[in-house]
Amino acid sequence: MLEIGKLSVSYGKAVALEDVSMRIGEGEFVAVLGPNGAGKSTLLKAISRAQPSSGRLEFRGESLHRFAAHEVVGKGICHCPEGRRLFPELTVLKNLMLGAYLRRDAQAVQADLDLVYSLFPILKERALQVVSTLSGGQQQMVAIGRALMGKPSLLLLDEPSVGIAHRLKLEIFDAIKRIQRGGTAILMAEQDAQSALRIADRIYVLEHGKVGREGTSAELGADDYIRQAYLGVG
Ligand code: ATP
Repeated sequence: MLEIGKLSVSYGKAVALEDVSMRIGEGEFVAVLGPNGAGKSTLLKAISRAQPSSGRLEFRGESLHRFAAHEVVGKGICHCPEGRRLFPELTVLKNLMLGAYLRRDAQAVQADLDLVYSLFPILKERALQVVSTLSGGQQQMVAIGRALMGKPSLLLLDEPSVGIAHRLKLEIFDAIKRIQRGGTAILMAEQDAQSALRIADRIYVLEHGKVGREGTSAELGADDYIRQAYLGVG
């Protein structure tokens, strides 16, 4: 579905990504693990075309370099960025509907809104409440829901669990797994290695802008380096 080859991004003289290669199959759940500053957010921004990059970036056989960020959404790639980027003074419902701004299929949009409410029932209860009054975890649910309202075939999630209480975190990861089971491929940047290894099919480890290790979750969960550096065991 997505083929990335020798992808590089620089901010002025600082190299944030260097020759990164990875692939994501249709419907697959891939996680990118790595410490602060490793380049995870930069990678997701490059894919959604929010950040210029060089190298191969192909989605279903077509180069994404030819498209602007808003056109990439139309191709079926929706990005749920770090820090959520919600409109705090708008209601939950209005924030969710902003994710569907390119769509003209009103009935399908309503069906997707129902899907978001079934994944996150609290959002239905709070539909008319302004987002600034929600908890951090609830705001993260709005951000994921808004990305889903774009009807993605590939959902990019940037650290969905950061700063969120444990119980809500489990709920959010459970919802993400259900989104994948519904047929949407997921690329998730995450620092919580334990959770990523539990729910993703495959993992890439990004360190200093380069792919260090890669493998299935089972393979990396048994890897001594990963156990020591990311799970604190072994
Ligand atoms: P975190 O988990 O802390 O969000 P990350 O793995 O997502 O980290 P990035 O945000 O992609 O990492 O940053 C990669 C590198 O690029 C870092 O050294 C960062 O300081 C730098 N960087 C990111 N954005 C910019 C920018 N707009 N201008 C200059 N440097 C940047």
